[in-house]
Amino acid sequence: MPGFESFGDLERKEVEDVLDNGVLMRYGFDAMRNGHYKAKSLEEELQNTLQVNHAQLVTNGTAAVSVALALAGVGAGDEVIIPCFTFVASFEAIMMLGAIPVLVDIDATLTLDPNAVKAAITDKTKAIMPVHMCGSMADLDALSAIAKAHNLKLVEDACQAIGGTYKGTALGAYGDLGCFSFDFVKTITCGEGGAVVTNNATYAKHADLFTDHGHDHIGNDRGAEGHPYLGYNFRISELNAAVGLAQVRRLKDFIAIQKKNYTILRDALATIPEVTFRTVPEGGEESYAFLSFFLPDLETARKVSAGFKAAGVDACFHYYDNNWHYVRKWEHLKDIKTLYPVSKEVTNGLAYLKTKTFDQSDHFIGRNLSCLIKLSWTEAEVKARAQQMVTAIQQAL
Ligand SMILES: *Cc1c(COP(=O)(O)O)cnc(C)c1O
Repeated sequence: MPGFESFGDLERKEVEDVLDNGVLMRYGFDAMRNGHYKAKSLEEELQNTLQVNHAQLVTNGTAAVSVALALAGVGAGDEVIIPCFTFVASFEAIMMLGAIPVLVDIDATLTLDPNAVKAAITDKTKAIMPVHMCGSMADLDALSAIAKAHNLKLVEDACQAIGGTYKGTALGAYGDLGCFSFDFVKTITCGEGGAVVTNNATYAKHADLFTDHGHDHIGNDRGAEGHPYLGYNFRISELNAAVGLAQVRRLKDFIAIQKKNYTILRDALATIPEVTFRTVPEGGEESYAFLSFFLPDLETARKVSAGFKAAGVDACFHYYDNNWHYVRKWEHLKDIKTLYPVSKEVTNGLAYLKTKTFDQSDHFIGRNLSCLIKLSWTEAEVKARAQQMVTAIQQAL
């Protein structure tokens, strides 16, 4: 997945444009900047690449999720349905708004189970947020039908899946709003950065002002601009945007390399009858950022994970035993360990986590290993890796 593996002259040139004129801020200073608007250019490039009407850059992917939910009208006491397998940022971003994350089971797609979503809807539910973990997607048609039937917003967290598509639409561009991260380990990186995308013109206008203290960006005197709504500062800097601009232009090449490496590994693992692969919904194409597969049971998955480490097969994750991506290890959320008081609604709203079990998700995550696909491997290295993986799995079975 990581764009950091492929970093060089193109990124340097874009950054030098910014350093040459010294305008590190995305707005204003028109006379000084020699025509360089890196954030604006990156937004246009994202719109073209993802075929979406509007892209708004922000400081990071976590901010992108908070901003997207705020635009969708999610606030105090509202519930947002998310999968129990995701990065902690998903519930952090919800709680930042005073809203309540409602964690539900995943299925063999490793993303939201539509039946679990249906069962979790209450009169407080405002949005459904699928998280396209590890480069593949949720069943978006099914989730969209549920959202429409219950008048809910569909917000996609596509932070791990840029470059993937569903029925010809870029992941992130399918729902009411979509979120991306360009942190250092994502498919394309700009150090720290993120984006909110939408086809809704009102959301786009609100995104523009909300992420810059409420500035309406009318006229060319910042001090004289109006502020129709309260906002915050989620602005990206020109230096970060410059790096992202070079990286997004290389996205197609990165995805092609990932697909090639992924296919070699998958073909090798497919020769083992006990290995099965995550389900990709019909009409979906992965971004090939990870190869995710299942072993027959938890014990075998743990053995294979240990075997991979012993054989030097790095960057394969057994999320069941991982602190950051699965509900099992989120004691800080279950115990609501915040540095500041949260509302009674949030305290009461999270009480379900003390007793709720996730047996169906345990069944999938317990048996799953997800292996990062790197860009820098040579073909010989991928083939050697495939052989090491096959050997380690056969030894564990
Ligand atoms: C990385 C990530 C985020 C947060 O992005 P940052 O830029 O690191 O804040 C949110 N959701 C998912 C699924 C992610 O993988």
